[in-house]
Amino acid sequence: MTQVELVCLQLLLQTLLWVFGALAFREERSATLHWLAYAATGALATWLMSLRTGQPGWISGPGATLAYFVSLLLACRGVEVFLRLRTVDQAYRVMLVAAVLGLAWIGPAPDAARYRTALMSSLSVLLLVLVIRQSWRSIQSEFGLVMAVPAALSALTMGALHVAQVMRSWHHPEALTATAVDVTTVPSGTWVLLLVSAAGFNYLFLFLVALRLVNTLRNQARIDHLTGLLNRRAMTRILEAEWVRHQRSGLPFTLICVDLDFFKRINDEHGHAGGDEVLRTIATRLKAALRSNDRVARMGGEELLVLLPGCRADGHGRESADRVRVALGCEPVLLSSGRSVKVTASFGVSGVRPGDLNAEQVMARADAALYRAKAAGRDCVVLG
Ligand code: GH3
Ligand code: MG
Ligand code: MG
Repeated sequence: MTQVELVCLQLLLQTLLWVFGALAFREERSATLHWLAYAATGALATWLMSLRTGQPGWISGPGATLAYFVSLLLACRGVEVFLRLRTVDQAYRVMLVAAVLGLAWIGPAPDAARYRTALMSSLSVLLLVLVIRQSWRSIQSEFGLVMAVPAALSALTMGALHVAQVMRSWHHPEALTATAVDVTTVPSGTWVLLLVSAAGFNYLFLFLVALRLVNTLRNQARIDHLTGLLNRRAMTRILEAEWVRHQRSGLPFTLICVDLDFFKRINDEHGHAGGDEVLRTIATRLKAALRSNDRVARMGGEELLVLLPGCRADGHGRESADRVRVALGCEPVLLSSGRSVKVTASFGVSGVRPGDLNAEQVMARADAALYRAKAAGRDCVVLG
């Protein structure tokens, strides 16, 4: 098997990878289909190039070059779709028209190969710079620097390939003319770079598609979908970690159990949807009243739990609960129906004490204090 056939086979296998990608990750169907088309067009371009023996024709010369460029366009557009960026279709159209007109004008003649290379490589580098500039920050913020660097590297490798082609075409035009005549004279370094950049791109983005799905599931498993607060499962794990931290460093922590007052009545008067709106607003007010490293979870229904790391219950813990109580009830919650609801809540506060065996004991005291707050007439804070 020749080098060019091997590259073609690799690109076909990567196309197959995206077929499975498109079937498996329905959430990212549009991006995966772009990349499927990218790999398939890359394979087609390589196959067209492999037809170059003797005098190159329109298909195996400019046709193959155009197919490579279209494949690059599809890859870049797929990146934009995947990252939910604004697609720059107008720029793509202009580049495509420039490529078609330029190639038609230069034609397939072997001695014009360096002009063809210069045109197509400049357009490709322009495209790669555009997409790196557009996507860098977005990949970094969603997946971290550890993913943004290889993504940029795969694009830079493609760019380097094009720059190398242009330099080669100007310094050794005879080599390129030979390339145009017989594909077997393309240096193996060029094929290796092509394979590395294409495989790097395909594997990396397939990985990112899967990673996005995993991150979404991870978030869904720890976030309460109604309020956006942590859910009970996430808070349980956080409390376990906080307990370990307390044992290791002796740092105190405080828990505040919060229960909305007469919430059943709110539901009865404003419907379940109105009750849901109240819960969402209360969650927002609660978070705004706390420090950034305090954690809040919806433990179920209209019951919330606040963890104040590093705080003693009788000092900052109690003050925080008072501040939150005032913030929650400071003004009525305005519903989308136009009506407003006065909401109050009761608070039970307890901090970790010597002799406690686990965080559940702290929580049980805070819960008991909450019941005392209810019995004391509600809308108040009780220390447990
Ligand atoms: P108290 O002051 O003693 O806490 O009275 P309460 O009415 O708040 O307490 P109770 O536990 O009797 O009622 C809680 C209500 O919360 C009952 C339930 O229908 C409602 N609830 C639970 N989950 C949701 C939810 O997700 N959305 C809405 N809208 N209501 C919910
Ligand atoms: Mg209640
Ligand atoms: Mg309740």
